[in-house]
Amino acid sequence: ARYVLGLTGGIGSGKTTVANLFHARGIDLVDADIIARQVVEPGSSGLHAIAEHFGAEILQPDGTLNRAKLRQYIFANETERFWLNNLLHPMIRETMMSSAKKADSAYVILVVPLLFENGLDRLVDRTLVVDISPELQISRTAKRDNVSEDQVASIVASQVSREQRLAMADDIIDNRGVIAELEKQVDLLHQKYLALAASKTK
Ligand code: ATP
Repeated sequence: ARYVLGLTGGIGSGKTTVANLFHARGIDLVDADIIARQVVEPGSSGLHAIAEHFGAEILQPDGTLNRAKLRQYIFANETERFWLNNLLHPMIRETMMSSAKKADSAYVILVVPLLFENGLDRLVDRTLVVDISPELQISRTAKRDNVSEDQVASIVASQVSREQRLAMADDIIDNRGVIAELEKQVDLLHQKYLALAASKTK
């Protein structure tokens, strides 16, 4: 598809829920979280580079990446964190954009949790932010993942603020209400994106 929409929002805002509603209307999705796993799957050049850099002890016995160990390594070491991001971010970006090009729905949605944080908003035609209050982010995520509210709150605090995200959004979808209200907003946005995609010339 030539017209690419970037869908984002804070943790637990409802990105997956919203993306699935667009998918039900025939729109192809490219999920950044899935691609981030693909670029380090066994046999990938990403995993090779990581094993070469950190040593084979970064692998589990079955050859997959030991994510807990990698997190430990980079948590305490900014140089290593930069090294890893420099390796993976371009791979993720290129894989996402080539998947988007291959999609053949009227437009395509990239679902990217850290769209603004990682500057990926510059690569899409338009951005859509799923908005809820931090309180709802915390309660919905804690319930979904069965983790503590404090744990979710610290992740919320590490992401761009609600205000910053809303200021950067082209479109906003309000997910504070019930799913039926979400459906109505998605229907309107879908019509708008079909028109925008049809009129995109290059
Ligand atoms: P993450 O950033 O963690 O990947 P996400 O932005 O994809 O999360 P979802 O998983 O879609 O968010 O939604 C978070 C939780 O809130 C899920 O359990 C989902 O079912 C629930 N949820 C989403 N929208 C609503 C709503 N309008 N009313 C009630 N619950 C909702």
